[in-house]
Amino acid sequence: MPIATVNPADGRTVEVFDPLDEAAVEARLARAQSAYESWRLTTFAQRAELMHRAAELLDKSNDRVARTMTLEMGKPLAQARAEAAKCAKAMHWYADRAEALLADEHPAAEDVVDSGGGSAFVRYRPLGPVLAVMPWNFPFWQVVRFAAPALMAGNVGLLKHASNVPRTALALEDLFVRAGFPLGCFQTLLIPSRAVEAVIRDERVTAVTLTGSEGAGRAVARVAGDEVKKTVLELGGSDPFLVLPSADLPAAIAKAVTARVQNNGQSCIAAKRFIVHTDVYDEFLAGFTARMRALTVGDPMAESTEVGPLATEQGRTDIEELVTDAVRLGAGLACGGARPDDPALADGWYYLPTVLTDVTPRMRIHQEEAFGPVATVYRVADLDEAVAVANDSPFGLSSNVWTRDANDRERCVRDLRAGGVFFNGMTASHPAFPFGGIKRSGYGRELSGHGIREFCNITTVWSG
Ligand code: NAP
Repeated sequence: MPIATVNPADGRTVEVFDPLDEAAVEARLARAQSAYESWRLTTFAQRAELMHRAAELLDKSNDRVARTMTLEMGKPLAQARAEAAKCAKAMHWYADRAEALLADEHPAAEDVVDSGGGSAFVRYRPLGPVLAVMPWNFPFWQVVRFAAPALMAGNVGLLKHASNVPRTALALEDLFVRAGFPLGCFQTLLIPSRAVEAVIRDERVTAVTLTGSEGAGRAVARVAGDEVKKTVLELGGSDPFLVLPSADLPAAIAKAVTARVQNNGQSCIAAKRFIVHTDVYDEFLAGFTARMRALTVGDPMAESTEVGPLATEQGRTDIEELVTDAVRLGAGLACGGARPDDPALADGWYYLPTVLTDVTPRMRIHQEEAFGPVATVYRVADLDEAVAVANDSPFGLSSNVWTRDANDRERCVRDLRAGGVFFNGMTASHPAFPFGGIKRSGYGRELSGHGIREFCNITTVWSG
């Protein structure tokens, strides 16, 4: 895939970028290493001042940044604005809290004595340059949720962004430079994915974080493992959304739609599998289908648009193939299942919000991630079956449960195999809560204290 800005709303190429050659990558790696040697010596207060400034600059350029994201990957403009605002908030959050999150830890006095020591403590020190391989779907947020904690911890960042969001990638570097971060603290590498291996193997790069597909995660983790370098992997998801008999049904239906189609259905934590108790199944399906069918599909720059195009032509092909396979094997099509017939949308990579029923394990969509506005709805007899269907997935990112029953809640917290359980709402990330998955959704955590400590040298300091 060339490194290029291509508008998903009309398929036109806006700008093509030359990838960095080897010498240019080498220059950036050298700059990263030298920046790290002084950045690691700065105080939390110095780092926080720059991070707050970056957040303020981002708020000031919110609309421009949002339009760049929408142009490159097609999310509705209002959602792009909200993404940029969320990034600024996370920057302030880490600027204000990093020092406390990384404060020295003191073991119990009796354990220090037991070790034969006079004193002991644990210090979180930075690691060095960290490579971030990032996806296009939340092109600012995914990067900032890595960069804000990493920079506050004293690391420096190298960004290999997805090839279809180069302008956004450059805007991120520009933001940190304009905020006053020393050159080399945060750099964008415009390189194709085949050039990533050499960067991981470079001795100056200490660790890698990747957000993206399972295939990319495997490829990057394989190389990093070979080099014995730490990785954090945030991969795909096929989150369940359980609706149980005590649910507030109108609220569950409204949130189900948002949870499925946010970001044009291309979110790792989107609810993708709707697992509904038989007592409320018919009412849920009718309400959910009516709302999915009524969504406004169109130009993502238009304020009224609720669902824009898929980000890439291949992405639309992938989703069409999943739906075709399910229907061929007997799935019911409650709505959608086609491209819109509006001629004004013919050149873009649009796909109608779609609801599939009667999905069985033989269908690809039962096991694979549907990265587009396509929902599968399952009917289950009881909570046991709901949990079994929810867990019957290779992924384990997050989960959503609608219930007002305390026993249901306890059971779901105990048994749902995922990195999150969200009741009576939809999964959303927040700087204060750890974010990440299990199974094929990856490992490690971002955000919160857990996230900032992932790329630290956790150092025991002992004195006799
Ligand atoms: P992708 O194709 O895996 O790309 C992600 C990044 O990895 C891009 O920068 C890509 O570069 C790079 N890449 C791909 N193959 C690579 C390889 N063999 N070696 C090194 N780098 C490689 O994913 P995407 O299509 O951009 O994003 C969609 C996926 O991301 C979905 O599965 C989604 O669920 C997942 N995701 C997960 C989370 C989470 O937090 N768990 C959040 C958002 C998205 P190129 O563009 O140059 O190929």
